[in-house]
Amino acid sequence: MEAVVIGGGVAGAASAIALRRIGAQVTVYEAYPDPAGPVGAFLSLAVNGLRALESLGCLDAVRAAGFEVDRQLMWSGRGKRLGDVPRGRTADDPLRSVTLMRADLVAALRAEAVRLGARIVVGERLAEPGGAGAGPADGAVAGADLVIGADGLRSTVRRMLDPDGPQPSYAGLYGVAGIARGVPEAGPGRTFNMTFGRRGAFAHLPAPDGTVWWSAQLAAPVAPDRIRLDAQELAELFAAERVPRRILGATERIDAATLFHVLPPVPRRQDGRHVLVGDAAHPVGAGQGASMALEDAVALARALRAASGRAAAPDLPAALAAFDRERSARAGKLARAAAANRDAKTAGPLSALVRNAVMPLVFTRMYTRGTDWLYEYRPGALPE
Ligand SMILES: Cc1cc2nc3c(=O)[nH]c(=O)nc-3n(C[C@H](O)[C@H](O)[C@H](O)COP(=O)(O)OP(=O)(O)OC[C@H]3O[C@@H](n4cnc5c(N)ncnc54)[C@H](O)[C@@H]3O)c2cc1C
Repeated sequence: MEAVVIGGGVAGAASAIALRRIGAQVTVYEAYPDPAGPVGAFLSLAVNGLRALESLGCLDAVRAAGFEVDRQLMWSGRGKRLGDVPRGRTADDPLRSVTLMRADLVAALRAEAVRLGARIVVGERLAEPGGAGAGPADGAVAGADLVIGADGLRSTVRRMLDPDGPQPSYAGLYGVAGIARGVPEAGPGRTFNMTFGRRGAFAHLPAPDGTVWWSAQLAAPVAPDRIRLDAQELAELFAAERVPRRILGATERIDAATLFHVLPPVPRRQDGRHVLVGDAAHPVGAGQGASMALEDAVALARALRAASGRAAAPDLPAALAAFDRERSARAGKLARAAAANRDAKTAGPLSALVRNAVMPLVFTRMYTRGTDWLYEYRPGALPE
């Protein structure tokens, strides 16, 4: 089977590994020259994503590129602790969530894909349907048995599948991420902190090298023309929140600035030859986008293998339909959780008061029950 993957980010590189593991010929086309898209921001992998990495044979390499995080603390703007839960796992799970730069995750996945014999072609973009500038990726898509759309939120493969399908829209929230140094108030290591401030949410993690990795998510009903990139301007927005203000004041560099988008459920995610994975199918947010993309890769390869039976090539329509059935319920449930998560970050003053009163009472208790289904997922093995 000859598979072409469009997009060499987390979903694309992971799919390349998974498909090589079931013996497919794989070529990945990635629009960015190298390493892949905006390289600055960090992300966290929850245990469900780590288990998918284990199935892909990349867990150790990814762990080595980041650091483990035990706990997640939630704070009000005034510094009142609102919640304390295990980070990205159930309380009794021996695995620990890992935080790392997105570029380092993509680099580790691509290295494994290439080691297994996948071809990765960078600087080649699949052209828009009906658009000009067809190149090697377009020819490869036309000739492939299987086309995997791992091309992110603005997926071209999604538009090929359904030109009238949903489009992403601005979520009322934008984010800026950076690195600070020398802030004792940032608290102990191995801890993810989320402060719900007046103007938005502020996440920070003290890293083992003494730096503090931070990400500010600001509510703005209308998308700003220019995202504030200056740490001092940001510090003014968090003037009422002491720890975020201190971290922003000690910032050494700003890595990334992003407008957050939402995408309504995508009705057509496969057609028996094309299939969407990762953000192209379901940009879930809630700290789960990369983990879900990794799960997708393993589930897709397993569905293809299961549909091969004794035949040399899988029954693609049956395999892709089975994959889609398996993934859509889980991704849909997570998308609903992500919407609630976003609302907490864009809460007005009244809902913020309610949140600050209610969270300490119910959050820690409810959290475990509410997230077990997410973290206890077992993706299953792939052939060596
Ligand atoms: C600020 C921020 C913080 C985040 N934090 C977390 C987190 O803590 N935990 C988590 O799990 N997730 C997090 N995410 C989400 C996570 O980064 C994504 O969900 C995940 O990377 C999805 O990967 P993907 O490969 O599907 O899409 P992408 O990473 O968007 O990759 C798509 C790739 O396709 C390429 N491409 C696009 N169009 C074409 C084309 N026409 N031809 C060829 N190539 C193309 C792009 O260049 C890109 O490399 C965060 C996202 C943001 C923006």
